[in-house]
Amino acid sequence: PVFGPDGEVEAVAGTTRDVTEIKESERRKDEFLATLAHELRNPLAPIRNSIHALSLNAKGNAAISQVCDMVERQVSHMVRLVDDLMEISRISRGVIELRRALTTLDTIVRSAVDTSTPLIVAAKHTLIVELPPESISLYGDGVRLAQVIANVLNNAAKYTDHGGHILLRAELEGPELVIRVRDNGIGIAANMLPLIFDMFVQVKNASSHTHGGLGIGLSLVKHLVEMHGGSLSATSAGAGLGSEFCIRLPCVVQQTDTSVPSPEGSELPEVKKRVLIVDDNEDAASSLALLIVRLGSEVQVANNGADALALMNSFRPDVALLDLGMPGITGFDIATQAKRTASMEHIKLIALTGWGQPEDRERTRAAGFDYHLVKPAALSELQKLLSSLA
Ligand code: ADP
Repeated sequence: PVFGPDGEVEAVAGTTRDVTEIKESERRKDEFLATLAHELRNPLAPIRNSIHALSLNAKGNAAISQVCDMVERQVSHMVRLVDDLMEISRISRGVIELRRALTTLDTIVRSAVDTSTPLIVAAKHTLIVELPPESISLYGDGVRLAQVIANVLNNAAKYTDHGGHILLRAELEGPELVIRVRDNGIGIAANMLPLIFDMFVQVKNASSHTHGGLGIGLSLVKHLVEMHGGSLSATSAGAGLGSEFCIRLPCVVQQTDTSVPSPEGSELPEVKKRVLIVDDNEDAASSLALLIVRLGSEVQVANNGADALALMNSFRPDVALLDLGMPGITGFDIATQAKRTASMEHIKLIALTGWGQPEDRERTRAAGFDYHLVKPAALSELQKLLSSLA
């Protein structure tokens, strides 16, 4: 729905529908979102692979490197939007999982600020970050929590006129960690405050400030914070008077001086494997092949199931990366066949697919796959997986 600045609903479907009808249409919407996100992911994989391949070849050429960086950033943005869509359908079905571990406030905030910096810099905002002097550890999903903070920071950057001020302040209040993000932007009318956390809600007078959002960011953020046992709230003195978002996390919080290991190095060591890539999307297959060759592996490509099975016999790969949905013989069929054939039994099977939900992973496991990667797989992820295989 689109709301007017005073909170009135601009357009409403006016018919009375019974509950089953509404439920059915909700279900179809979720299915549509999941399918849409999946279809949008497919072209992203070859684009990302190609850009990695290009940038590996562009060492020393500043102009090309710059273009590669730009495309990479845009693809990452697209991947994020698609991920949001995917997550919204997961939220509707209540199947989001947290990967909790011990992490630090500092790591989370750093990662969030890194994500939001391009938007903040582009709008010439000043960002001030105030963290408590002591190091704070918390048990939670670091990636999700960084996503939460980045989302709120991005909104502050989006809904504030150029040259604004954004303040991120984190402090301990009793057992709670409280993170506040304040901006001096367009503000939020009081009657809209409770609505902005709903899915697909955007305030109409904010539309000149949007940057291709879908109106689902805050609903995701709220859900993720609540999954951590926390809460998210917003305050604003009114339109034009800035906003403040407050994230409260009652997670296990403790003071510590253990340092957290730095993120993985950017140099990727060689992987010498024989790799078969199977994908009916020729661009996806060949761009991935380019990448894996760069890692030092020997690669063959098949664009259909029959060729794949033939190559499994003649090329004798150590690993096969299989797209699932192909006309005729699918990735599932290939896996089943491979696991039944003595000469192919040793081949490690990796499903490379746009579908990444738990039930999808269960399906590939049942079909005999050893691993499940979601497209577009990052180079470092592939590298790690390939080198971990005996
Ligand atoms: P999106 O930004 O994609 O529209 P969100 O769910 O992140 O979706 O935000 C929902 C709405 O809440 C936005 O469209 C905007 O109207 C309002 N909003 C969010 N953050 C701010 C902010 N910092 N200042 C003013 N309005 C905001």
